[in-house]
Amino acid sequence: MPRIPAHDILFEPVDIGPVRARNRFYQTPHCNGMGYRDPTALAHMRGVKAEGGWAVVCTEQVEIHHTSDINPFIELRLWDDRDIPMLAKMADRIHEHGALAGIELAYNGLNGPNLYGREIPLAPTGLPVASFTYDPVQARTMDKEDIRNFRRWHRAAARRGREAGFDLVYVYAGHALGCFYHFLSRRYNHRTDEYGGSLENRVRLLKEVLLDTREEVGDSCAVPCRFSIDEPAGPDDISRAEAEDMIGLVAEIPDLWDLCLAGWERDSKTSRFGPEGDQEYLYENIKTLTTKPVVGVGRYTSPDRMASLIRKGLIDMIGCARPSIADPFLPKKVEEGRLDDIRECIGCNICVSGDFTMSPIRCTQNPSMGEEWRRGWHPEYLPPAKSEKPVLIVGSGPAGLEAAQALGKRGYPVTLAEKTTRIGGRVTRESGLPGLAAWSRVRDYRELQIRKLANVEVYLDSEITADHVLEFGYPRVAIATGARWRADGVAHHWTRPIPIAESAEVLTPDTIMDGTLPTGREVIIWDDDHYYMGGVIAERLADSGYNVTLMTPAAEVSTWTRNTMEQTFVQARLIEKDVTILPHLALESIGVGRVQVACVFTGRTRDIPAEAVVLVTARISEDYLHDELVARRGEWEQAGIETVSRIGDAEAPATIAHAVFSGRRYAEATDEPPATGDQVSFRREITELLE
Ligand code: ADP
Ligand code: SF4
Repeated sequence: MPRIPAHDILFEPVDIGPVRARNRFYQTPHCNGMGYRDPTALAHMRGVKAEGGWAVVCTEQVEIHHTSDINPFIELRLWDDRDIPMLAKMADRIHEHGALAGIELAYNGLNGPNLYGREIPLAPTGLPVASFTYDPVQARTMDKEDIRNFRRWHRAAARRGREAGFDLVYVYAGHALGCFYHFLSRRYNHRTDEYGGSLENRVRLLKEVLLDTREEVGDSCAVPCRFSIDEPAGPDDISRAEAEDMIGLVAEIPDLWDLCLAGWERDSKTSRFGPEGDQEYLYENIKTLTTKPVVGVGRYTSPDRMASLIRKGLIDMIGCARPSIADPFLPKKVEEGRLDDIRECIGCNICVSGDFTMSPIRCTQNPSMGEEWRRGWHPEYLPPAKSEKPVLIVGSGPAGLEAAQALGKRGYPVTLAEKTTRIGGRVTRESGLPGLAAWSRVRDYRELQIRKLANVEVYLDSEITADHVLEFGYPRVAIATGARWRADGVAHHWTRPIPIAESAEVLTPDTIMDGTLPTGREVIIWDDDHYYMGGVIAERLADSGYNVTLMTPAAEVSTWTRNTMEQTFVQARLIEKDVTILPHLALESIGVGRVQVACVFTGRTRDIPAEAVVLVTARISEDYLHDELVARRGEWEQAGIETVSRIGDAEAPATIAHAVFSGRRYAEATDEPPATGDQVSFRREITELLE
């Protein structure tokens, strides 16, 4: 298909100092939980982005010196020359596909307690470290010699970045993270020398290092500056006017301005808390301050919107982290006019959770993310079918849909049967809850792909029984029948059912998604799931006028959403909606009109009035079909059945990302020898042992 002319503007080249970007698609630096532990997997992941058409592909934070590590987080390192080959491998993969490679040099200073190196953190002012975990460590105030050393270390890292083959060598002052930001901010910089106090003084170090970097990399590399432009949150934060003045003081020194918000959780909001282009208004006026190209992010997936940003003159390049994770081939698809093939980011931040849990990046929409080298998966191409044996998939949730589209693309004849009249399973159901509308993109992308595949047939309103499966005789059967929420209290805290009075009013998220709301007004939500559902149900009921109490054994609501950087937003929203939050309590039993609760520390019990209770606890697999078929294994051969597999929540309930991954895994494994578990199922890097 030809490219839409309105999108031509996105394919104009952009000069960034001495280098030229082939188009305006810019993959901004993003963390991924792989870093120095999985450098080859990471190099391949970045290479696939370049293959997908991004003009610039950047690393995540790269620690420049051993006096500032960001453990326990796993990022890249460029501490000495021995780290160069690891980075060079990535630059090479990016260059292979014609993109420019960018490296984000980072000195975290006050943001890291130096758990690995045990060095004293260095900062403009000796304050407690500003980490997520209130570490009992303070930084030392940098003296003039420290500042001279720091400049030398940054220079050395810039040189190593150039030697590793990078085309853009960053000075990172964004996200309220890192040494430069701490110098810029009155909150962290209490100095009275020429590096503190006035605006000029606070900008001094940034300016010096920008000039050092430029000198060090010579005229072969560009020097971008990543910088937070923001609305002030407190009197000591950098106000918008001040941020503009700061840019003004160094406006022409960097070759590019890469704009972000402070901190990261505000820059990368989930779709539940911020729409596409949430921060767009902050780009106003920036281009009057500098003649250098400006990059801005906004979880952009719409090429119309991207083109209009350029046309309006707000920014010059479209910065994307999450949209490039969900669809590494987004630029190619826009270039080829294949807009309905774009796998749009849903804004769930499961990708971010990889970084926060120190595990390789994963993505709800793109199951190949992080698996490019580990499992040899590609975001666009699948291995051709090894047989013509048809596959029956039962259930059209994220697992069934992903398996159907992936097997369809491989060339297998596929039948997808769904018992309800709506495709999408839990994604369709949950996207009707407050703030989760964008999650329907998981269904929409796959539904559109399946429609284009003549070898995939979808049957709605078709409840499949074991008799049907045996009668149809498909050689391969995948059971993707999902899971339902438990109504007996079993989850993390209680692993056996709790006492529930027979006439007590007890609901689950399923009841509410089915349209049944509590009859009484006083409702207690017992959240022992700890991800999004408890908070979302609280919102749903508060919006409908209920008096809602959310009770949790944890210290805060939706505590796992710390990993998606949503927790503070969830808690604030519930407080604003007058939801009563009761932490550190366990639901002991449910009576009529009351519940008994116990303090999780002392076990002291008390009664709380409640007309209805919503249990947001564990889920239970709907695997009856699988079990029935396994019980009738003796009939398979005659029916022509070779394999029956469970996938997604029917195998074990987890996130939507798990279900999509499971669907892809099933599709990749079809006609491969069965996994025995005797070998590691993915590739991994083994540490070289030294004397
Ligand atoms: P997952 O997250 O694993 O994809 P979901 O719960 O989202 O699981 O989806 C499961 C889907 O399977 C639902 O749409 C449900 O209606 C469907 N389903 C369950 N049992 C059957 C069955 N026996 N026949 C056909 N479809 C079924
Ligand atoms: Fe987008 Fe979610 Fe994928 Fe992250 S995990 S890129 S937020 S779809």
